[in-house]
Amino acid sequence: MKPETLAIHAGNAPDPATGAVAPPIQLATTFVHGPAAERHTGAEGGHEYQRESHPTQARLEDALAAIEGGAAALAFATGMAAIHALLSSLPRGSRVLVPRDVYSGTRVLAREFLPELGIEAVFVDTTDLAAVRAALAGGITCVWVETPSNPRLEVSDIAAIAEAAHAAGAIVACDNTFATPVLQNPLALDADVVMHSTTKSLGGHSDVMGGALVFARRDALFERVSHRRHLTGATLAPFNAWLILRGIRTLHVRVAQHCRNARAIAEFLAAHPKVARVHYPGLPGDPGHAIASRQMRDYGGMISFAPVGGREAALEVCRRARVFTNATSLGGVESLIEHRASVEGPRPVTADDLLRLSTGLEHADDLIADLAQALETAGSR
Ligand SMILES: *Cc1c(COP(=O)(O)O)cnc(C)c1O
Repeated sequence: MKPETLAIHAGNAPDPATGAVAPPIQLATTFVHGPAAERHTGAEGGHEYQRESHPTQARLEDALAAIEGGAAALAFATGMAAIHALLSSLPRGSRVLVPRDVYSGTRVLAREFLPELGIEAVFVDTTDLAAVRAALAGGITCVWVETPSNPRLEVSDIAAIAEAAHAAGAIVACDNTFATPVLQNPLALDADVVMHSTTKSLGGHSDVMGGALVFARRDALFERVSHRRHLTGATLAPFNAWLILRGIRTLHVRVAQHCRNARAIAEFLAAHPKVARVHYPGLPGDPGHAIASRQMRDYGGMISFAPVGGREAALEVCRRARVFTNATSLGGVESLIEHRASVEGPRPVTADDLLRLSTGLEHADDLIADLAQALETAGSR
């Protein structure tokens, strides 16, 4: 089946008990079993206790595995819970290669939490294959890739990194949150695990938190991470699983509109005299354009840019924005703008003139008009 069809039908069989076409939300925390804990063998059976697994989450996991082309998926309470479960499942003494430009939560986790587990984080520019190879030569257990990256939309070559990593005995995990499975499938490019913050485009409406890992193989790593989720309790609640499942059904049409809007906005910004720089892999002059054109089907809804005039000009654009809402997060129906350095907390690493846009599903003309008026008082290049 084509991806659009899978996104509608995977994990979406009618309720076997009632015939309901929309999936049920199964709230039970515990499931009837036999006297020696034999599990229920009905169509949606196999569950014992909600922290380990539950039917609504199982439907979501079936859908996630299908849309990423994986053998198995695990849903989590948040994206960070998914990242933590995977990286903390690596053995003591592991070394994890982490991109220089990466989601700030991943950076903090790598810097503060992994060392406590005896795991070292090695920060490398993953857009630079020679730098990745040099780091691999020093001994790496797992390469973390995030492409396009947050917030600079840097593009890393997943297939080339996977080839080098596998030759060096390392696994590759890819944060595919920005691209979504509609635009990029890291497992098809030989990554071993895909991670999603399903809080973002998969949920799609800024009203549910969740995370996911999709595994190329149902192997020992999958079992270790699954065991960890069960015992540390980062399970997704049934209603949240249901909302994310519902979001996935419309993912393809939403992502297509996000991409159309982002392309129009990026072109507008790139030509604007009051804009100093634009990061969007869909622009032909962008450093990531060639690789993105090879490994992605389109370039996504995320853009970052800097107005002329530095931090003050950037903050003024945020103050003047009307259609774009000042808020963090991404992938929802509404367009968002944020001054990234302000959102990153006490030790920001992002340039203080950088603004990040999540383009929503409004009409592109309204979004461009809003940015045009917001830029009026910025400096000129
Ligand atoms: C939001 C985000 C995360 C973290 O996910 P949460 O659901 O907020 O925990 C990780 N990676 C990227 C790229 C994100 O945008």
